[in-house]
Amino acid sequence: RPTIVLFTRDLRVHDHPALAAAVREGGPVVPLFVLDRAVMDRSARNRLSYLDDALRDLRERLRRLGGDLIVRSGETVAETLKVAAATGAARVHMSADVSALAFRRAAKLRRAAADQRVEVAEFPGVTVVPPGEAVPVGGDHYKVFTPYWRAWQARRWRTPEQAPKRLELPPGLDAGTIPQRLADSGSGPLSPRRQQGGEGEARRRMGRWLDDDCADYEHTHDDLAADATSRLSAALRFGCLSPLELALAARKRPACAPFVRQLAWRDFHHQVCAAFPGLARRDYRERDIAWRVDDSAFAAWREGRTGVPVVDAGMRQLLDEGFMHNRARLITAAFLTKRLRVHWKDGGDHFHAVLCDGDIADNYGNWQWVGGTGNDTRPDRSFNVLRQSRRFDPDGAYIRRHVPELAGVEGADVHTPWRRRRPVPGYPPPLLDSTG
Ligand code: FAD
Repeated sequence: RPTIVLFTRDLRVHDHPALAAAVREGGPVVPLFVLDRAVMDRSARNRLSYLDDALRDLRERLRRLGGDLIVRSGETVAETLKVAAATGAARVHMSADVSALAFRRAAKLRRAAADQRVEVAEFPGVTVVPPGEAVPVGGDHYKVFTPYWRAWQARRWRTPEQAPKRLELPPGLDAGTIPQRLADSGSGPLSPRRQQGGEGEARRRMGRWLDDDCADYEHTHDDLAADATSRLSAALRFGCLSPLELALAARKRPACAPFVRQLAWRDFHHQVCAAFPGLARRDYRERDIAWRVDDSAFAAWREGRTGVPVVDAGMRQLLDEGFMHNRARLITAAFLTKRLRVHWKDGGDHFHAVLCDGDIADNYGNWQWVGGTGNDTRPDRSFNVLRQSRRFDPDGAYIRRHVPELAGVEGADVHTPWRRRRPVPGYPPPLLDSTG
């Protein structure tokens, strides 16, 4: 009897444990993706655009193996069970995931499938080390990164799976269509310079990154203008790349150790989210912070019109590319939560509406970290925006690239245009008196 592989955010054929196990069963395999209205309507248009590319790429790959990607629209559980009934499938394989939505979906599928005598099995693949595999003595998850990092490295990682060589589909199954322009549904802006999605593009990027740039990461990752990070986050978010395959390849290169550590940060936030699925909505650590409601300051921040150049550069990069450099994410998030005192949820929701790599665990985990309610052991650390601007964009090249009004401002004034004798035409005065 056939096995259904329910794809969610694991849109690849390489090192896909749920798919590999289905192939090992020996019978026909039904690779299935359900365009779930409830998820699509809430999703960022930038991510739907990435998903659009990724689904087409995956379908192409599966077809080359003799299979196909079966696409359905509707509610995930109902559609999966319809396909199970139509094909006589005995099992559904899927990758285990950590968000509240993913937990609800898996539980609902298990219940409904049991009524139909269909087994549901979950597999690793979304993180390098699955949540629950690195656990502190006497606790359910790590709350602090450094001990997690040690445990993460000490774990024996599983052996990656080969991509299948051939797939067999059950006969007579309508493959369904991937609608034109998925990004027309969803919400938020469609960034003109957003990244292309899909496993093919992700693997090319990974290859170039490991061969050419990863070794310099330690020295260049914080340089805003150098833009010298991997930009593999969206590929990891959609599972177009296996995090394990990437981590193993990077670990073979000693100079890439600082990069591998960042992959552990991703796993860290995932295990926090698995233990605390309300991460996007509730304080991980309850703290008495006097948040302010300031609609006009919040709007200025979103649009990159705060008058603080490095903040505006980051926020405009986000709108333009659906991506923001990590250092700029830290600066813009700290400016919003620590200086404007606007709630981390509002900032997190805006990022989530725009980022191609927007991911519940990483986005809200980092927002809570910066906002002082997360896993930072020093939640009240001070953050000087101007010092960050001068340190991480010393020539102002990042600012000039993303804030055209400031392109002609020479020298160090680019960090502090309000100190010039004449204001820069079209550029607002700073939102706060002191931007320290
Ligand atoms: P690289 O520097 O090349 O790092 C490699 C990979 O390591 C990344 O692709 C990512 O998967 C992981 N990684 C790196 N830093 C972190 C981190 N601090 N936390 C978790 N994983 C990390 N990352 C997301 O993937 N999705 C998000 O929604 C997201 N929201 C963020 C919000 C805020 C406020 C902050 C401060 C950070 C956020 N990050 C998020 C983490 C980080 O900024 C991005 O992963 C990184 O900028 C992506 O670029 P890159 O792939 O070139 O990263």
